[in-house]
Amino acid sequence: MKKIRACIFYLALLCTGAANFSFTLLPSVTKPRNIILMIGDGMGLAQISSAMPFYNGVNAFERFKVIGLSKTSSADNYVTDSGAGATAISIGKKTYNNAIGVDKDSMPQTGLFELAKLNGLSTGVAVTSSIVHATPASFYAHIKNRRWYEDIAASLLNKQCDIAIGGGYQFFTNRKDKRYLTKELEQSGYKVIIDSGSFKPITNPRFIYLAAADGMPRIQQGRGDFLQKASLCAIENLSKNKQGYMLMIEGSQIDWGGHEMNFDYMKAELIDFNNVINMVLDMAVRDKHTLVIVTADHETGGLALTEDDKQRMQFIPKYTYHEHTGIMVPVFAYGPGAESFGGIYENTSLFDKINQLMGW
Ligand code: MG
Ligand code: ZN
Repeated sequence: MKKIRACIFYLALLCTGAANFSFTLLPSVTKPRNIILMIGDGMGLAQISSAMPFYNGVNAFERFKVIGLSKTSSADNYVTDSGAGATAISIGKKTYNNAIGVDKDSMPQTGLFELAKLNGLSTGVAVTSSIVHATPASFYAHIKNRRWYEDIAASLLNKQCDIAIGGGYQFFTNRKDKRYLTKELEQSGYKVIIDSGSFKPITNPRFIYLAAADGMPRIQQGRGDFLQKASLCAIENLSKNKQGYMLMIEGSQIDWGGHEMNFDYMKAELIDFNNVINMVLDMAVRDKHTLVIVTADHETGGLALTEDDKQRMQFIPKYTYHEHTGIMVPVFAYGPGAESFGGIYENTSLFDKINQLMGW
């Protein structure tokens, strides 16, 4: 009798256990070889929704089957800046606004790029701001203040970032400390290209391509398909590493349109970003080993789509604020391991999820 009772007890335990287990069990996943993290700076749901009627061709966001929401508050403010926002993703810890790759006590922390490098992968950034701006800097630098651009530029000598494409040559060639950083970088094995003409693809495993003195021109000022070409060039060079790569692509100026409360500026930048996402997804569909994550560091402008007259089914965009807001931002994921990105979580979980998938 005792035996039967024990049997029933264990059976019951097994059943409840199994029920709990199946509830928390993640779908089986294969490990991605490559990770492409795409950050639309200031790109909330209102920005994505408002640009949708204007996409030429395919709406890239509708191609994702896995969607999550990321909570963006920083360690010292409900509303994050781009430094704390990107650092949370890069190091997996909440930090203070203006921090770059350091925790809330200003201590440098191991980030995704370092982990990638330690595990034999290559790393890169392709952006439309300067490459020393807060979002890209948070992935390769550890600096107390996002405005110490010259220090951020010099930290590329740490070789955590193999390929960097964007603007910002003034922080390399015209420095207060009189260091000529391009020369130092070339001595340490980088090819450095300074060229503000149209983007010319190159073949090199380690290079820095600086295409403007500071941020890149706006789409409205003729930037063209710079980000598409830069991202493709980065992918082609990084994918020569058969162990894989991690690439961060940023639509940097979606945020700047928001700060200006300039809907046409924001919309043009988002259409450009949509084109780049489509290109990356096309590659990932062919490649099958690349996890693509598209998200934002925060929303900018408190954009509302308010009612027009009822016949036209159009909206009037209204910005409520010229700064960032604290609303959750969407996360879109495609490729091996994408399932882990569904749900609602802190921005720091993006670090945890990538780490777990990669086994770092
Ligand atoms: Mg940014
Ligand atoms: Zn901003």
